[in-house]
Amino acid sequence: MNIGIIRCEKNGDRCPLTGCIKSLEKRNEGFSNYDETELTGIFTCKCPGDKVVDFGKILKSKGAEAIHFCTCTFSRKVDGKWVLGDGFCDHVDELAGNVAKETGLPCVKGTAHLPEGYQPVVF
Ligand code: SF4
Repeated sequence: MNIGIIRCEKNGDRCPLTGCIKSLEKRNEGFSNYDETELTGIFTCKCPGDKVVDFGKILKSKGAEAIHFCTCTFSRKVDGKWVLGDGFCDHVDELAGNVAKETGLPCVKGTAHLPEGYQPVVF
């Protein structure tokens, strides 16, 4: 499965997506449903997310068959553990839904370090 990742600009100068890329390569966490994975590319969303559909279309044109939004867009770290809610983006569901609708690709919320009990939501 060729996978594109969309991350949030809010930690763009702090996180090089090491965990997200490792999870994709190892097919765990948000990528555990795939038999094989290859990274198509990564885009950085910028508020308020106006370009995110274009990013999805470009990723598709480069071969992406699914697009994942980083876990930090909808989850946060508390005392060293990731918990659901209060991530960087208050409208990531809308963004992922729009990308899915406009590209026809599954858009998945989740990459690395999923909160306990969270099953990746697919738009
Ligand atoms: S729109 Fe959401 S995902 Fe995009 S940069 Fe802003 S907070 Fe991050």
